[in-house]
Amino acid sequence: MYKIRVVMIVIFMTLFVSGCTTQYSQSMTRAQSGLIDLEQYQLTDMIVPLDGEWEFYWNQLLEPGQISQGELSSMVVFPSSWNKYKLDGEKVPGFGYATYRLRFRTAESRILSLKIPKVRTAYILWINGYKIAGAGLVGTSIDTMTPQYKPEIVSFQSQTGENEIVIQMSNYHMQSGGLLNSILLGSEEALLSSRYKGLAYELFIFGALSMMGIYHLALFFFHREDKSALYFGVFGVLIAIRTLFIGESFAFFAFPDLSFSITRKIQTLTFYLGIPISFLFFKEMLPAYFHKNVAKITLIVGSIYIFAVIATPIRIYTAFNSIFQIASLLLMGYIFITLIRVAVNREKNSGLIVFGGLILILTGLMDVITLSPWISKSWPIMLKQVFTGEGNSSSGLLIFTILYSLLIAKKFTDSLKYQTIMSKELTEVNSRLDELVLQRTEALTEANKQVESQNLELAQVNEELQRLSLKDPLTGLWNRRQYNKSVSLEWQRSIEYQKPISLLFIDVDFFKNYNDFYGHAAGDECLIKLSKALRNSLAHPSNMAVRYGGEEFLILLNETNEEEALKTAVRILEEVTCLNIPHERSSISDRITVSIGVATVLPDLRSDPEHLLKSADQALYQAKNSGRNKICSA
Ligand code: GH3
Ligand code: MG
Ligand code: MG
Repeated sequence: MYKIRVVMIVIFMTLFVSGCTTQYSQSMTRAQSGLIDLEQYQLTDMIVPLDGEWEFYWNQLLEPGQISQGELSSMVVFPSSWNKYKLDGEKVPGFGYATYRLRFRTAESRILSLKIPKVRTAYILWINGYKIAGAGLVGTSIDTMTPQYKPEIVSFQSQTGENEIVIQMSNYHMQSGGLLNSILLGSEEALLSSRYKGLAYELFIFGALSMMGIYHLALFFFHREDKSALYFGVFGVLIAIRTLFIGESFAFFAFPDLSFSITRKIQTLTFYLGIPISFLFFKEMLPAYFHKNVAKITLIVGSIYIFAVIATPIRIYTAFNSIFQIASLLLMGYIFITLIRVAVNREKNSGLIVFGGLILILTGLMDVITLSPWISKSWPIMLKQVFTGEGNSSSGLLIFTILYSLLIAKKFTDSLKYQTIMSKELTEVNSRLDELVLQRTEALTEANKQVESQNLELAQVNEELQRLSLKDPLTGLWNRRQYNKSVSLEWQRSIEYQKPISLLFIDVDFFKNYNDFYGHAAGDECLIKLSKALRNSLAHPSNMAVRYGGEEFLILLNETNEEEALKTAVRILEEVTCLNIPHERSSISDRITVSIGVATVLPDLRSDPEHLLKSADQALYQAKNSGRNKICSA
């Protein structure tokens, strides 16, 4: 619904603007036998095309005074290229020269104007014997004539009654000579106003088309992937330029000094480049519908023709016009069939595509026919008006351009929307990815932390176990911790049963020296042996041997009096001697010896195990001081 409304608005706007060029009321009076009677018309507010039967003097250049000396070749239909005339059953050739004459009757003498279109390809025009207009140089051969297009409006004083128009024309540059469009007679005001309206409309179309062309070229420049914008842009610029050469032909007015051949070439190129370009454009818009070879052939034929236009003079390349025109018609047919297929398949936007495409084909058809010498007398007037009205093709092209720029804009915004959606999704996926990675990392860190803390716990547990363990790991003797526990228990028991407790405090003599000399490992070895000896010397299983510090040991003897304790101490000294561990750095022996302090108490509530240990330590101190390898009793 929305699309249809847009299309309607575009068409009405174009028709409205083109409606501004609607011409003044035109008379239907036609010349008969070289005379047109306008006495009944007020020529102030109307425009009269001087169409009908003109006198035609082939291969004669006659001036107004010489007409009677000339030989009238025939009465001919005007306007028309002279190629369509037949003289004595023979066709008039395109190249040559001729004089035309028309008489017209007006009711009063007044200032009137003639609007003279492009004449192929040079002319001089007299009214009532006065030379009032001309373009180029009329001559009788290609060397003596100069071609020029100079459509213009000229004024003259009409006579009451009969007036005479004489026109000399010559053509050696175009395939057909003569005049294709009507000469208009009217008041200067009416003709100028119609010209200005026409110019305004054509310049409006030029502006619109060239802006759209440049805009799409810019689109392509910034978005190289989409070639449809390129072709459309080139096409827009081409037909914009072309607008300046047809209808009111602003280009000839703006650049009067441009040479005939250059302006012709520009005009031809804009049209013949336009056809392959528009074909490429359709192929880009509807790639599925175009056969590769058709595109190739089009490009080849188009390139050959374009090369010919650029490189050869007008006479030569225009000779092949009809071939290219036939090729163009075939191509239009191909595009037409394609558009029908698009419509049948109900492609996306097929309404716009088909409608715009049909308008383009119609205008192309109009142009081919306008450019060609095919329009003949036998054509119905309606058709002739449609196809010779050059302004119509500009309107058609503008409608096409507007419709298709809508399509391209839609294509661009669609792809933009698609990109936006895609990038949104991508961003979402990315952010989700981030989240996921974050989650995983967190989990991993958590796991690592757990492992670490487990390791830590394990280490702590190990340490704790070590700490809690009852035995010394090196020697397998009870440790200090276990001693403290046991001694307080024994202490209680001894208080209860009133039995003495004895404690031996044993320290290895000169053990620092031993370590220094034999090494720490040997020292450990020695400690292990000593602890075995200590265990061996215990008489009763309830007694305990303890590794109290580095090389310090305790023997706790329950229910043992001093005498028994001393016996054990002696046994220990003997056992150590029996170990026979060499010790070169001992000052008192050549082997390892120990000193022993002995303490015995009868525990009571006033004393504690600490007291017992201190006593034994003091005894040991004495043993050391009195020479070592000795037993001292507290
Ligand atoms: P003394 O007792 O005769 O006065 O002399 P000392 O050399 O034994 O003197 P001290 O008791 O001060 O030295 C103790 C030395 O015992 C210090 C250290 O080298 C050694 N030691 C302590 N614990 C260990 C241990 O677990 N293994 C080893 N190999 N050596 C130890
Ligand atoms: Mg010590
Ligand atoms: Mg020692």
